[in-house]
Order: sequence, then C-alpha cells, then structure tokens
Amino acid sequence: MSAACIFCKIVNGEIPAKKIYEDDNFIAFHDIKPMAKVHFLIVPKLHIETLKDCTNAHESLLGKALLLAPKLAESQGLVGFKTLVNTGREGGQEVFHIHLHVFGGEIIR
Ligand code: AMP
Ligand code: ZN
Repeated sequence: MSAACIFCKIVNGEIPAKKIYEDDNFIAFHDIKPMAKVHFLIVPKLHIETLKDCTNAHESLLGKALLLAPKLAESQGLVGFKTLVNTGREGGQEVFHIHLHVFGGEIIR
C-alpha cells in the first residue's frame, strides 16, 4: 500500500468509486472518465506500480486479473470487449498502480 496512491485509497475505502466487484485480491470499478460506453478497471489490491515491476511471484495475480475480465464484462452486459494495460509514462500510464482497462462499445475519446 502506498499512502499517496489514488487506487490504494479506493482499495481502502478512503475515496469512493463505482465498484462493480471485489474479492480478496481485486477491486473493479467504473473509470471516472470513461473512454467507451462501458469502461471499468480491474485493480489488484496489492500496490505494484507497473507491469514492468511484476515478477514470477505475480504470475498468478496477473492470470487472475485476465480471467476476471470476461466474467466482469459479462456482468456489465458486454458480449465482446477490449483490454488494455498502459505501462510507464511513455506508455500512457497516469496512475502508477497496475490496472487492467476493460472497454465495451465504441471508443469515445
Ligand atoms: P492509465 O492511463 O492506464 O494509468 O489509466 C488511469 C485511469 O484511471 C484513467 O482512465 C482515469 O480516468 C482513471 N481514474 C483516475 N482516477 C480515478 C478515480 N478516482 N476513479 C476511477 N477512475 C479513475
Ligand atoms: Zn496503490
């Protein structure tokens, strides 16, 4: 957990979010600035800054995140969807707590 991290604050309930799912390892919530009709984020509770910081120790966590995507997409009424992980500032990452974007419908921005 990182005190300054906005996603850690959501995990801890310090900042509200439109939560769609939670278990021991993950929280998922709607993106505050959606880029598609449906746009949510799958966020591990563990604070890892980027995909580059992952090691073999995170293999199961990363696999679980991907396996959650179709389940949660279906729960949001999606038949098909896109996924995205931005990595590093140069990769378009703005929040440095690893997360998987899930988009359904046309990209709107
Ligand atoms: P990334 O560029 O991959 O780091 O994406 C960060 C995403 O987090 C952006 O799409 C933001 O709109 C989203 N975001 C930032 N703050 C919040 C928040 N408080 N609640 C929900 N989504 C957020
Ligand atoms: Zn964090």
